[in-house]
Order: sequence, then C-alpha cells, then structure tokens
Amino acid sequence: MTETRTPSMLQVFNDHFDRAAGYLKAPADLLEYIRACHSLYSIKFPVRLRGQVKIFHAYRAEHSHHHTPTKGGIRFAPDVDLDEVAALAALMTLKCAIVNVPFGGAKGAIALDTRAYEVEELERITRRYTTELVRKNFIGPAVDVPAPDMGTGEREMAWMADTYIMLHPNEINSLACVTGKPVAQGGIHGRTEATGRGVQYALREFFRHPELVKATGLSGELSGKRLAVQGFGNVGSHFARLVQAEDGAVIISLSERDGTIYAPDGLDVNAVLQWREVTGSIKNFPDATTLSDPRAGLELDCDILVPAALQNQITAANAGRITAPLIAEAANGPTTSDADALLRQRGTVIIPDIYANAGGVTVSYFEWVKNLYHMRFGLMEKRIGIRTRRQMISGIESVTGRAFPPPLRDEMLHGIDELALVNSGLEETMIEGFQEIVEIMHHHQTPDLRTAAFVCGLQRVVMAYQELGIWP
Ligand code: NAD
Repeated sequence: MTETRTPSMLQVFNDHFDRAAGYLKAPADLLEYIRACHSLYSIKFPVRLRGQVKIFHAYRAEHSHHHTPTKGGIRFAPDVDLDEVAALAALMTLKCAIVNVPFGGAKGAIALDTRAYEVEELERITRRYTTELVRKNFIGPAVDVPAPDMGTGEREMAWMADTYIMLHPNEINSLACVTGKPVAQGGIHGRTEATGRGVQYALREFFRHPELVKATGLSGELSGKRLAVQGFGNVGSHFARLVQAEDGAVIISLSERDGTIYAPDGLDVNAVLQWREVTGSIKNFPDATTLSDPRAGLELDCDILVPAALQNQITAANAGRITAPLIAEAANGPTTSDADALLRQRGTVIIPDIYANAGGVTVSYFEWVKNLYHMRFGLMEKRIGIRTRRQMISGIESVTGRAFPPPLRDEMLHGIDELALVNSGLEETMIEGFQEIVEIMHHHQTPDLRTAAFVCGLQRVVMAYQELGIWP
C-alpha cells in the first residue's frame, strides 16, 4: 500500500495560487514574480545557556515588497523550517491585500520548543534573534514589522521592541518596529484578542448571507450553533470565549496538544480556562469527557469546526470523517489542498484562513498607526462627543417632555474609547473583506470562498505591481 504524504505548506499555497490564477487576466511572468518569496533570511546564531553555547536556527521571510513595511508574525516552534516560513509569509501578502491593510507579507520563526526553556533564557534568545534581524535590516517601522504568532505573545514583542529601541536610540518611530506589544509598552487595546474576535466577526457576517448558509444546510444565526474548536491558545481561547459570551454559540469540544474535552451540551469556556490555570491542562475537566487524541475533536458531530492550532490538521487521511458542514479556519493552513478538494466535493463550506484570521494583522495595523501618531486613539474627541450627545439627549427630553431611558442614556454618555474604536475598525474590516470575497465569488463564478479570497488578494497585488512598474 502506498502511503500518502502530507503536502508541505508551500505546496498547498502553490495549489491554491494556481487555482486562483486561472481566474485572473494577469501576465504569467508577473504572477510568477508575485508567487516567489522576495527576501529570505536564514540564520544560525549562538546563545550561551546553562554553561554551554547553543545554536539556534531562525528565519525571516519577506514575501512581497509592493507595500512596505512588510508584516507578519514570529513563530516559536520546534520543527519550523524555511519553506514553512516562506509559505506563511506568502499567505500574509494575500491576507493584507484582502482586508486592505497596506503591508507586504512577511513571517519569522525560531526553531525551538518554548517548554524547554526558562523565561530568562527565552528572553536572551528573542533578543539575540532581534539583533540578527537588525543587523540585516529585516526589522524596522518602515521596513518589516513583526507580531505574535504561535508560541509568542506580548512578552516576546516587548523584548523585541526594547532590543530594537536600544539599538536605535534616536529613532522617533522606533516603537512601531513591532506590534502586539503590551498596552503599557505602546500596544493597543484589543490586539491580544483581535484574531479570535476577527474570526467571530467573520462568522457573524457569514450568517448574514442566506445563500451561503443554505449551502451548509444550517439556518438562522451563530446563536445556538454547536462548535468544535481545536487549539486553546491565543486565537482559540479568545474566539471560544467571545462567541460563547456574545453570540450564544455552544462550544461542544476543545482540543489541545494533549487531548480533547467534549460535552454535547456545551462547555463553560471561562471555567475551562480556570481549570487549565490550576491543573496545567484542559484534560479531565469536570462535566466533560476527555479523549486522549487531540485530533478527535475535528471529527465530532458539530455545526462549525474551528481549527485554531496548527497547519496540516485536516488532511486527505481524515477529511472523509469530518462531518461539520462549515469550517472557519482560524489557524494558518489547517487544511491541505487535497483535503480541501475532498471537502469541496462533499459540499463543506470553508471560510479560508487568509480571510478568517486577518483580524490580528488588522489590529496590528491600527497599533502601528497609533505608534506613528504618538497618541492613543479617541483621546482628542472623547469629551466633545460626550458633551454633544448630552446636549442632544437634553434637547430630545425637553421637546418630548419625557426622560431618556437610563440604560440608553448611560451607553450614549459612556464615550468612545480606544477599545471601542479598535473593535469598530476591526468589525468594519471583516465585514467589508467578506463582502468583497462574496462579490468576487459571484462575479468570477469561483466554486468556493477560498479561491475567491485568493483572487481578491492576487488582483490587488497584481494591480499594485502594474502601477508601480519596475525600477531601475
Ligand atoms: P498559540 O501558541 O497561542 O496557541 C496554539 C495552541 O495550539 C497552543 O495552546 C498549543 O498547545 C495548541 N496545540 C499545539 N499542538 C496542538 C495539537 N496537535 N492539537 C491541538 N492543539 C495543539 O498560537 P496562536 O497565536 O493562538 O496561533 C494559532 C494559529 O493561529 C496558528 O496557525 C497561527 O499562525 C494562527 N494565527 C495567529 C495569529 C495571532 O494573532 N496570534 C494571527 C493569525 C493567525
């Protein structure tokens, strides 16, 4: 019997690229230029750890410079390689284009297992990596702006920003060298949960399109839908928490690297977070069945499957057993192209990663702008807004002779702060992005949302290169 090999992320990207390219009227040589990753940096650097010198392999890929800076997360994972980073950078280019964020795509990584190191060791590794990026001009507010990805978060972004600032003491915009920082270190409210919230907004918008909902055999809204979520890290945990609290979705299962917990009537996501805080694992959560297989959650009976962990989770080997009629790809590259083809044949609708998880880079864009603006959003206009609305309420009350309902009055007089502005900008971006993809799907008669999303992104990058020309 011949064993089927899981295709690499780069192969999967190329398969989707080729399918979408067939719908475009673009010169073949330009498409080949756009497909290729424009700058690749592969480094080996030493760090002194526990009395020894340890060598780390690390990468940064800048996929396309049609807009600068380039932008993309930093991944800490044991088996990451240059091809994976290049594929993730390419996805970033199209993702930014789809949601109209004016960056080229990039991605970076260090091959390491974060669980094997102390915090102080991780700090030294991260700072050395940042120094290597500085040395080769692969980081900077106008050049290339990293952000968190798998295995990294605000803590690592704060170390990276501080290292860059130390090396560029006279650069006024240096805080904008990286996004996803803690709010007190120049970050922005709402960035930590932005990717999960973006997936939530994407699903809400999906349910506003009756023809797409009908194709899944589902009906109604997100409320009451039964969801299985794989990955309970930054993206998965915020997503699950938000859709449960704000949309009334039912989280029937959560999967982590060491197992799956399952409760057909729904899990209390906040209680699972607390359980993990205390026990170190989601396993054996009370009132749930624990399954030892982390992939078991993918195959459970549910309405919506949300892979939010790793790439290559839905493959030709398990696609036949996945029964969810709708998949929202919160992770990057969770579905291989052969699995994608099998699911398409079966009529499964997939909201693709290059759109679904674009909330992170969208709010990163807001943070970058905030850093260049040197002031938090909403500061100048907040009090004027409150005063104007108070006058409006008094006017309405004196004309009608009736008091304004207190909850509405409180809401109107609360004032619009940075978080409200960020979430509003994120919601608008996700709605607009989805509508553009659907328009392209209808216009080009693409068979699925993924092809339409690739066409949407590619069209914009093609246009940018045609307008820019080639110099020198
Ligand atoms: P994270 O490191 O915070 O979380 C990943 C989680 O997946 C961890 O809790 C890990 O234990 C779990 N996991 C690892 N192996 C698993 C397995 N075999 N089965 C189930 N769970 C497993 O990373 P994240 O930032 O949440 O990223 C998750 C995915 O979302 C990645 O594909 C990433 O590229 C993508 N993404 C992240 C962002 C962001 O802003 N962080 C933005 C866009 C896309």
